[in-house]
Amino acid sequence: MTLDLETREQLVATIRRFVDERLLPAEAEVAESDSIPDLIVEEMKELGLFGLSIPEEFGGLGLTMSEEAALIFEIGRAAPAFRSLFATNVGIGSQGLVIDGTPEQKAQYLPRIASGELIGSFALTEPDVGSDAGAVRTTALRDGDSYILNGTKRYITNAPLAGLFTVMARTDPAQKGAQGVSAFAVEAGLPGLSTGRPEKKMGQQGAHVCDVIFENCRVPASALIGGVEGVGFKTAMKVLDKGRLHIAAACVGLAERIIDDMMDYAVTRKQFGKPIADFQMLQVMFADSRAEAYAARAMVEDAARRRDAGESVVTLASCAKMFASEMVGRVADRNVQVHGGAGYIREYRAEQLFRDARLFRIYEGTTQIQQGIIARTMAAEARARLGL
Ligand SMILES: Cc1cc2nc3c(=O)[nH]c(=O)nc-3n(C[C@H](O)[C@H](O)[C@H](O)COP(=O)(O)OP(=O)(O)OC[C@H]3O[C@@H](n4cnc5c(N)ncnc54)[C@H](O)[C@@H]3O)c2cc1C
Repeated sequence: MTLDLETREQLVATIRRFVDERLLPAEAEVAESDSIPDLIVEEMKELGLFGLSIPEEFGGLGLTMSEEAALIFEIGRAAPAFRSLFATNVGIGSQGLVIDGTPEQKAQYLPRIASGELIGSFALTEPDVGSDAGAVRTTALRDGDSYILNGTKRYITNAPLAGLFTVMARTDPAQKGAQGVSAFAVEAGLPGLSTGRPEKKMGQQGAHVCDVIFENCRVPASALIGGVEGVGFKTAMKVLDKGRLHIAAACVGLAERIIDDMMDYAVTRKQFGKPIADFQMLQVMFADSRAEAYAARAMVEDAARRRDAGESVVTLASCAKMFASEMVGRVADRNVQVHGGAGYIREYRAEQLFRDARLFRIYEGTTQIQQGIIARTMAAEARARLGL
């Protein structure tokens, strides 16, 4: 759906109000209790947050990438744990079905994912398979009209809550690379599927990850996404292209919020008889932060617009994810510095946001993996230019 400007602005304003009035005041409680209050979860469902990117015919809002990014800039201002709860439904936990699912698979799961009744998780990473995602070891071997899954998936966001997992597993063990990998929509609760203990994390308290373990877990052949073997890695990469723009938008939102916190502190805290905002050495940090956040916002908006227009944005999504996640790390670090001792103290939000921001450089492809993608494309373009 392409919203008219007025509807889009209203939607953005509604989310901004929700962030200001409901999420920001609840941040400390969420960090302390490591959980999001049920009432806020219900409000997120009512706002349609779980179905932002699910097509309208399946009960979602069917937003374009540009529209989704505009909302995630707002949501990103709150502690990232809030976004994490619905983000797998919007992104990596639903898009495999949206992009490559059969009509039956879409009809079966997408309406419940859009409403938030069903939490979707994306299970690619394994204990020995991280950045080299094409090397998936979990197997899915055909047995009559089922597949039997064996293996362990690691650090799976929202796995403790998930009702449905998009699982990448090797259907052809003779094929060692990405071509042997297929994607499955696997329902929680099947015999042979279990989840591990939620991990204790550096930050983003209130968001949970754990292992997902398959021990002779029998899934119906109809769970094979798109009904085609051997294209699961491609599905995963398509999902991640979109996911990376979403993450970049979240980084922009968080950076803009941190900059506001930084400036609020800087204009009120006085040393040497004047606000610390007047010190030129801090002004360099303010200006760099503002310019870098603006650059990241512009990158996300441009890449999202191009994706909506049908362009391939593999490289641009990597550029945006790399730049925005590194940028928010720098901004969060400067904010601690600007806060001085208070920046290291729990009561102030600076240290929590610093820890929260750290994850963005790691998941959905580390910075080094994004750099590899970008550089390989550049070399391919150069070879093509030179006819090599
Ligand atoms: C909180 C959290 C949530 C997560 N959620 C999910 C999820 O929902 N689903 C999911 O499937 N996964 C998830 N992950 C996993 C995440 O995507 C991986 O941790 C990430 O992709 C890195 O893989 P790895 O941890 O195995 O690190 P490794 O791949 O072992 O990398 C270690 C280091 O080596 C570098 N490196 C690796 N290969 C190269 C290379 N070719 N060139 C240069 N440097 C390289 C990396 O950049 C990194 O610095 C999550 C992780 C965390 C921490």
